[in-house]
Amino acid sequence: MLRGYVPPYNATVVQKLLDQGALLMGKTNLDEFAMGSGSTDGVFGPVKNPWSYSKQYREKRKQKSHCENEDSNWLITGGSSGGSAAAVSAFTCFAALGSDTGGSTRNPAAHCGLVGLKPSYGLVSRHGLIPLVNSMDVPGILTRCVDDAAIVLGVLAGHDPKDSTTIQDPVKPFVLPSLTDVSKLCIGIPKEYLTPELSSEVRSLWSKAANLFESEGAKVIEVSLPHTSYSIVCYHVLCTSEVASNMARFDGLEYGHRCDIDVSTEAMYAATRREGFNDVVRGRILSGNFFLLKENYENYFVKAQKVRRLIANDFVTVFNSGVDVLLTPTTLSEAVPYTEFIKEDNRTRSAQDDIFTQAANMAGLPAVSVPMALSNQGLPIGLQFIGRAFCDQELLTIAKWFE
Ligand code: GLN
Repeated sequence: MLRGYVPPYNATVVQKLLDQGALLMGKTNLDEFAMGSGSTDGVFGPVKNPWSYSKQYREKRKQKSHCENEDSNWLITGGSSGGSAAAVSAFTCFAALGSDTGGSTRNPAAHCGLVGLKPSYGLVSRHGLIPLVNSMDVPGILTRCVDDAAIVLGVLAGHDPKDSTTIQDPVKPFVLPSLTDVSKLCIGIPKEYLTPELSSEVRSLWSKAANLFESEGAKVIEVSLPHTSYSIVCYHVLCTSEVASNMARFDGLEYGHRCDIDVSTEAMYAATRREGFNDVVRGRILSGNFFLLKENYENYFVKAQKVRRLIANDFVTVFNSGVDVLLTPTTLSEAVPYTEFIKEDNRTRSAQDDIFTQAANMAGLPAVSVPMALSNQGLPIGLQFIGRAFCDQELLTIAKWFE
């Protein structure tokens, strides 16, 4: 829909970086309209994970199968901001921006061995960010270490008159102290995140990380986020409903693509949108319009908003009980080969891949994925810290100690 489109103004985040002397190297590939978790559904084709070509991974693959074609097993980056992750991971740039509505910055960060930060909702301006779910979208930051993420956040954070949801209070610079003593910290481990689908490797690294905090004197406790099991479904209803509304602006008149059909305005709208959107986008528009039908609105959209409030309250309860940060996996497993990823229907995939990440968006909380270790196959695995709203500095300080 937006192929070749050149926006007439810069997003606030881009302008802020330029104002500080940053060099904008280019735009990166992603799933169409940031809908996805693999970076396999973009208009420029799928994004390849640079780790597919690491020596260790290639040797492991070779041992497994002698006849495999070297290039046939390349791995997905995760997504939707996979191009940004690939660019940073391959050392082609210092940092990259992503968008994070349900995990799109943290998921590819975990799969590419990077730090992926989703700041608190309202800390960074969304002006110029093409919306997916306005009430959850946050510009995200991908870097190779936590300090780099803090530097970029320091540039981006703050009130923007062009985004009324940004905080009014002035923000302090994000300079991270070197934490040496974690003994006063309380780390929460949400028991609902121990799902059967979690790979054994991620599970054991997760408990290793918890043990590390404990051995350094931190209090590590099991906590409950009781509405977790409703979270994915609730996200889906809210996401598709907002998508149905947000995508209405792409009508062939104002932005981007317009088809050649000119028999009527309606026919032009329909053909433009049929040609300009991929299956994923069209599917979400249809689902969203279904949930917003007069007879469904109360039962789906309004109900999902109420459930969202319960999910957000679960976090408030846990943080009010004295927990400083939550420690969770970011993804179920390491990056999988493209051929394996596309076997599954993208709706099922999305539901699985966002399992640990989307709740922080629904609650507006800051969350960061930090590389933990390499798997047996030599691929990166990340873990996620979720913090209190607007305690991004504290969250990053703990993440820095951990990395
Ligand atoms: N995978 C999620 C989705 O497709 C997250 C997308 C995002 O964060 N941009 O909705």
